Amino acid sequence: DDASIPAYAARLNAPQRDAVLTTEGPVLMLAGAGTGKTAALTARLAHLVATRRAWPSQILCVTFTNKAAREMRERVAGHLGVNSEGIPWLGTFHSICAKMLRRHAELVGLQSNYTIIDTDDQLRLLKQQIVDAGEDVKRWTPRQLAGLVDRWKNRGLNPSDIDAGENEAFANGRGREFYQLYQDRLKALNACDFGDLMLHMLNIFRTHTDLLAEYQQRYKYILVDEYQDTNAVQYLWLRLLAQSHKNICVVGDDDQSIYSWRGAEVANILRFEKDFPGAHVVRLEQNYRSTPQILGAASGLIRANSNRHEKTLWTEANGGDKVRVIGVWDAPEEARRVGEEIERLEAEGASLDSIAILVRAQYQTREFEDRFIQIGINYRIIGGFRFYERAEIRDALAYLRIVAQPQDDLAFERIYNQPKRGLGAKTLEKMHQHARRQGMPLAAASLELADSDELPARAANTIGGLMRHFLAWREAAETISPSDLLRLVLDESGYNDMLANDRTPESAGRAENLSELARAMEEYETLGDFLEHVSLVMDNDRGDQEETVTIMTIHAAKGLEFDNLFCVGWEEGVFPSQRAIDEGGLASLEEERRLAYVAITRAKRRCTILHAANRRIYGQWVSSIPSRFIEELPEEFIDQETTMTGGASMWRANWSENEDPFAHVAKDRPDRAQSRGPGWQRAISSGYETAQTRLREPGRSAASFAAKPRSDIAIG
Ligand code: ATP
Ligand code: MG
Repeated sequence: DDASIPAYAARLNAPQRDAVLTTEGPVLMLAGAGTGKTAALTARLAHLVATRRAWPSQILCVTFTNKAAREMRERVAGHLGVNSEGIPWLGTFHSICAKMLRRHAELVGLQSNYTIIDTDDQLRLLKQQIVDAGEDVKRWTPRQLAGLVDRWKNRGLNPSDIDAGENEAFANGRGREFYQLYQDRLKALNACDFGDLMLHMLNIFRTHTDLLAEYQQRYKYILVDEYQDTNAVQYLWLRLLAQSHKNICVVGDDDQSIYSWRGAEVANILRFEKDFPGAHVVRLEQNYRSTPQILGAASGLIRANSNRHEKTLWTEANGGDKVRVIGVWDAPEEARRVGEEIERLEAEGASLDSIAILVRAQYQTREFEDRFIQIGINYRIIGGFRFYERAEIRDALAYLRIVAQPQDDLAFERIYNQPKRGLGAKTLEKMHQHARRQGMPLAAASLELADSDELPARAANTIGGLMRHFLAWREAAETISPSDLLRLVLDESGYNDMLANDRTPESAGRAENLSELARAMEEYETLGDFLEHVSLVMDNDRGDQEETVTIMTIHAAKGLEFDNLFCVGWEEGVFPSQRAIDEGGLASLEEERRLAYVAITRAKRRCTILHAANRRIYGQWVSSIPSRFIEELPEEFIDQETTMTGGASMWRANWSENEDPFAHVAKDRPDRAQSRGPGWQRAISSGYETAQTRLREPGRSAASFAAKPRSDIAIG
């Protein structure tokens, strides 16, 4: 009876409750978007604690983003009336492993204050190795090598595990050698990269069975959200931890697997029942998130994929608007249009928090940022390191990293001459030589060099001065707050002066960013805590004081939901991405389609899809054709609209059965003529042709053409 049902389970339907109450043994929850998988997982966590099956510290719960972890933590804490800090092992794979590795760093030759390096550092390090080894960095690029190393790490492979066949992939069989050198170098720097967080912990568990046994006992229950996106190393790690008690509950949706490019394997979810025989399988079919129109559009779209498990989704909700598909002239107009729609929503009483804009690629955000700044709509960008990627922020962080960890040579290289101190490559080379000879970090080597006569007096003086600052900052770090330390460092290093003397328009913005960094640091007690936070943040939202529109990539939107959703840039070459089209394989296009499915299913009430007829990509105007995904949306669930006299709907109408306008596209852009459905060809080809002709008109550069008033450029 209802009276005995605790609050956290009150709202759940029967299969959800089943997933919550089946506490012992393996459980697999396989269900479509918005069916309450995450809700059930959250209730399960609350249930395990409320019924005293486990203390919060005995539950390992993996979410896909830090944001998701935060939300789940608050919800559970609310249900149980406990402190939200009281669920220590709730987080992403990376944050959990980073925390574990701090405790056991010495087992893989690191100290507990190791640094987590980012892609930029990774590339610099790899480049150095390729050059040192006498290979041509143009032929064998650092990026290529980084990709290879990442893929190996994602699969749980150490250098010694790489077999000859795979090794061939880089520099005529030197891949394994570079991988080994890179790992050695990282160790010497007391650092690891993102992939190492998982790999090191997997290695530790594999080789220290006693420790593994301890952890197997500690975590009485394991919960994993978004399981379809786990990669091999994560999967192996989970399997080790769950092996003894097998109380593992995973939830996922094969239609939402969108990280195969990062090594995720949908097969993991399908293999679960083999690994954990007798697993209890729960299927959810009722969608609580979206209107039937949105659900119908998304389900119709994903049906075009061949490699999937058909799922039934239904909703009790009725009514709601159809999914709107709007064609506009170009990208700036797309941003203008979205701005107008948002203002309209606001006028109707919608909160900005209920609105999100989903882009396929980061570069698309720029246009919206510009527009929103212009018309004064608050926005934030989530997903990616945008803020922390800025040069001045990275400089400041490099200083702080050296203060925290003087072995950090990468940070040292970044700032030894930033601001400019007149130290050149020659001096750096001397420092490197000395460091290598003495087997010491660059910072220590520079300190020694400054006191020797190996450097010209001026350089020696400069370095000596800088190093004395570092010594002082290290002392100061013991007593003052991280944000005060930052202010001190910026002042004494000459960084602030450099910005003050900088007359370029950007310098004010740089200074603002640094103040923002200091503000962000105020929340942290120690420098170490802050630096760890920085290396782990995926979503850089700035608190919840103000209402904001959210702009993010579809990848970052996984698991989230919004009342009002704008999906922008649905054009061939943007979405699906040009890369997916070029690769041409079914696999990459199906992954793009799953991404489109994830996008639409984030919408609760209104979903608007936009596409532009012209877009500037890498400085070039290109005319674009609507995404094939638009064509795949069942007509009954969509409303087409266009601000041009032409646009997608016109293109459809204009097409005549007797012509084969598609032949044109095939001739002009063979790359675009491949791998698409027949309905799609028909719908877009005539429109594409028109746009092409227009752009070729003599005396009109594509750019000036695009800037003409709309009436002048009507298609059709
Ligand atoms: P996704 O696949 O996108 O991650 P999901 O399956 O995890 O989706 P949730 O995010 O857990 O779905 O739930 C979707 C929405 O439905 C949320 O707003 C949630 O609060 C609501 N919901 C979940 N279960 C129920 C229920 N039994 N009754 C009413 N609302 C529910
Ligand atoms: Mg979810």
